[in-house]
Parts: sequence; structure tokens; C-alpha cells
Amino acid sequence: MSTIKENLNTVLSQIREAETLSNRKKNSVRLLAVSKFHEISEIEQAILQGQIYFGENRVQEAYTKFTELTKKYPDIKLHIIGQLQTNKVKKACEIATCIESVDRLELIKEIEKRASQLNKTIEIYFEYHTGEESKSGFTSYEDLQEAVKYCAEGNCPHINPCGLMTMAPFTQDTDLIRESFRTLVKVQKQLSTEFPNVLLNELSMGMSGDYKIAIQEGSTQVRVGTAIFGERNYNKQ
Ligand SMILES: *Cc1c(COP(=O)(O)O)cnc(C)c1O
Repeated sequence: MSTIKENLNTVLSQIREAETLSNRKKNSVRLLAVSKFHEISEIEQAILQGQIYFGENRVQEAYTKFTELTKKYPDIKLHIIGQLQTNKVKKACEIATCIESVDRLELIKEIEKRASQLNKTIEIYFEYHTGEESKSGFTSYEDLQEAVKYCAEGNCPHINPCGLMTMAPFTQDTDLIRESFRTLVKVQKQLSTEFPNVLLNELSMGMSGDYKIAIQEGSTQVRVGTAIFGERNYNKQ
């Protein structure tokens, strides 16, 4: 069985290789290690290899694990990547540096409120729905526009909008996957002309099964879980 250390090295070298093959700058793609459903001891193995960025999709689970981990390793950073209920935003802001699953204006208002109370700045990604089967993210461009406009107008001094996030459809059809990533790039271009003062430079796209395609299409951050930590045991918790 391969270890987390070996898996991490493999994924990192494949990311670097994909950067080169796609004429991307070396180290232009960040690896977010998605540790949901995995134990603190497993996450620690990745940290000891130098991994800094982690992704979790359930706030309560993330809160328990990362409260402990950040005490021991203050430099690690947590991104929330799963659908976020408004009543979980407070805890999310306490533990995370970034919320990537922003899918409605109401959430932005709540993040601003909580981040302001905590006297910190939270990074956000706007999640946009580009895949047929996934249900997460803004599903209408107009709603996304409204949310970006709200930030552009200076309503969120405690929020740093960084970019866009998407999930490709769960399919073997690489054309469909590529299409989904291209949609996100198009949306990024459109928003940058409409709202030049909101810098949405980052594109969080690509998972274990499709991160090489994502890098070819311009991803700046891939979110990889299974290829690092192995299969998730959904019955465990
Ligand atoms: C679980 C998850 C991932 C990682 O998926 P893998 O296929 O295990 O790499 C990436 N992004 C989001 C939003 C997730 O929920």
C-alpha cells in the first residue's frame, strides 16, 4: 500500500509535470490537500512533508480537527470547500483562512459580519456551477454578477475575493470536463472586464480524477483528496 508521503510526492510531481506540458509557469498551481473524512494523524503525515493548504467540506468536522492541528502547526491553512449553511459561517470564519464555496449573496453578508467581529480578513472564491450533475455553486450568471458587484462596491472590507471555484461533472467524458473548466475561464474573463477592481485571479478547479485537464485549462489551484489520502470511509463518522 502506498503511503500518504508517497502519494503526496506523486501528486506534486504530476502537477509540476502538467505545468511544464501546458506551458504554465513552474509552481503556478497550488495543491489543496482535501482531508475530509480523514484522521488528524493522516493530515499530520502530509503536514510533515511540508503541505500547507488543506480543504474540508464540513465545518464541524473541520473545526474539531483543525483547532487541534493549528495549535501544533500554526502555519497551515484551511479552506472550506463544501456547501455552507449560514448558521455555520461563524465557526467557519474562526477556523478557516478561505471559503471557496460562496454560492449566494446572503453568505457574503454573513461572512463579512462574522469576519468583522473576529477582526480578520477572510478570502473567498465564488463557486460557479459549470457541471451538469453537481448542484453546488451559483447557477445563474446574474446572481454571481450581483454578488461580485456587492463586493466591488466596497461593502466587504473584511473579505478578500480571490477567484472562482468549480466542480466538473462526474463523468469519464473528458470533453465535458474540459468544457466545464473552459466555462469557468470565460466567466472569469467576463467578470474581470465588468468589475476591474475585483481581482479574481485564482481558478480553483481540478480534483483527483481531472486535475491534469484543469491545469491545461488554466487552474491555479487543484483540490485533491483521494489521490493523496486514499478512499474515504463515509461510514466512519
Ligand atoms: C471532496 C472534494 C474534492 C476532492 O475530491 P477527490 O476526488 O477525492 O480528489 C475536491 N473538491 C471538493 C469541492 C470536494 O468536496
